[in-house]
Amino acid sequence: MSGTTLDDYTDLYAQRVHGMKASEIRALFSVANRPEVVSLAGGSPYTAALPLDAIGEMVAELIQREGAPALNYCVGQGEAALREQICAVMAEEGVDASVGASPDDVVVTTGSQQALDLVARVFLDPGDVVLAEAPSYVGALGVFQAAEADVVHVQMDDDGLVPEALEEAIAAVAASGRRAKFLYTVPAFHNPAGVTLAEERRERILEICQRHHLLVLEDNPYGLLGFEEQPPAPLRSRARDGVLYLGTFSKTFAAGIRLGWILAPHAVRDKIVMASEASILCPPTFNQRIATRYFTTMPWREQLKVFRELYRERRDATLAALTDFMPDGVRWTHPGGGFYVWLTLPEALDSKAMMPRAINARVAYVPGTGFYADGSGTSHLRLSYCFPPPERLREGVRRLGHVIEEELSL
Ligand code: PMP
Repeated sequence: MSGTTLDDYTDLYAQRVHGMKASEIRALFSVANRPEVVSLAGGSPYTAALPLDAIGEMVAELIQREGAPALNYCVGQGEAALREQICAVMAEEGVDASVGASPDDVVVTTGSQQALDLVARVFLDPGDVVLAEAPSYVGALGVFQAAEADVVHVQMDDDGLVPEALEEAIAAVAASGRRAKFLYTVPAFHNPAGVTLAEERRERILEICQRHHLLVLEDNPYGLLGFEEQPPAPLRSRARDGVLYLGTFSKTFAAGIRLGWILAPHAVRDKIVMASEASILCPPTFNQRIATRYFTTMPWREQLKVFRELYRERRDATLAALTDFMPDGVRWTHPGGGFYVWLTLPEALDSKAMMPRAINARVAYVPGTGFYADGSGTSHLRLSYCFPPPERLREGVRRLGHVIEEELSL
């Protein structure tokens, strides 16, 4: 295949492709994964802590007992047995039958990433506005951008999304003659900010959204990963209508099985299923059966405790190292759970420009700009503590502290 090029065909690309750009995180993976680099960049869960032998036996038994159907297509909404288990997990997150969560209203997706994509397909026309926290999960921004929507960021502080800022953003969008369709929010252990929406703000935010006929897209991948205490009850547990709730097995079980879900009212659920069938026919049957078995036959609550303890230790190591090694003027959040710490550098520093020097010093992070649709966020960066063991985390933060110190003295 010499000399083959698609350059001559770029004029055939769809309009929406021109706005697509490589995720900052994916672009970093090749360098960040070199063994000499301490990567605080990627957010990969620590799957080595899973009981791999027991899972191996479970999968072998699954093939023996249900091999033929497990290796076939299933229904677009996802298998009923798994949707029941999903309801058990959601109940643990605080969304249960008393607030109308039922297997019938669940759609199984290939990770919550596909759920985001399906919501975008069902609700967004080009030019529609999506309100989202500043900063926001990079994968969600990519989906909204692919849908040709405009993201308007709403200010957060240490207690999560600021209700007054939400009111202001809604008013500003209306004043510009446009229409916001939903608020995308990660209320618990935010990616990338590491903060949690305070209890006293939750009703208020729901009230604002309801008053403005704004749907809430609540994305809750880290809700069960609280270290000292669990986060306040999800928004969906306080409102039956107007909230689409996204969950995933990526952090409580295995990201590699690519299974998540969306809990939606009937009419929306039907459209979501149709959109998913058009896109993937059905979620992977084999993986659904693995997950069903895992959640019905294995001690998943115990395993959650293992994950929480593991990540708590890593969070503690990271925060202690930040205190020990960061120069004056650097600030960071104090996550009560999840995977991420968000750093704010002195204004003069640019975390993206600093990246090559950090790689030279053998440490990687994600520059803040990836988490803002408008390219702002230069003085921020995200550290993930989920994957490296505590002593590597400490070494990584030490190297980063040194890089920032040098940067400040330039
Ligand atoms: N939402 C948020 C906030 C995330 O952090 C992630 C994973 N990093 C996802 C969605 C997507 O996760 P998955 O597709 O693995 O469920």
